[in-house]
Amino acid sequence: MLSDEVRQMLIQTAQAARKWAYAPYSGYAVGAALLTTSGRVYDGVNVENAAYPTGTCAERVAVFKAISEGEREFEAIAVVTVNGGSPCGSCRQVLAEFGLETSVIVADEEGRIVLETDVAGLLPGAFRPTDLKV
Ligand SMILES: [Zn+2]
Repeated sequence: MLSDEVRQMLIQTAQAARKWAYAPYSGYAVGAALLTTSGRVYDGVNVENAAYPTGTCAERVAVFKAISEGEREFEAIAVVTVNGGSPCGSCRQVLAEFGLETSVIVADEEGRIVLETDVAGLLPGAFRPTDLKV
């Protein structure tokens, strides 16, 4: 269970990152903050592209930053949008790769929590690495 301090720190980090979102097409800025079990925090923003499908989400940017620096285990992720929009299916799958117990906090731009769950709650029946071992 996350402490209130950690929860607030992650929301504030995601809120602060949000200003760097590159969202000229949707105008829907997203910030994310990922806490690893080693205690580091990686932020991320959505990065859109004129060739729409090549853009990516804030959650995946945060996860990929962490992975590219050797992290593999995550404690929690906070996601902040204008209205508390929920992570998309692709991000849910990417999070599920690294653990179903990762806490997920979704907040609006005022920092109000609109959803608090874990990855298992976001993506029931996720396809997992163990499913490949037949
Ligand atoms: Zn996404």
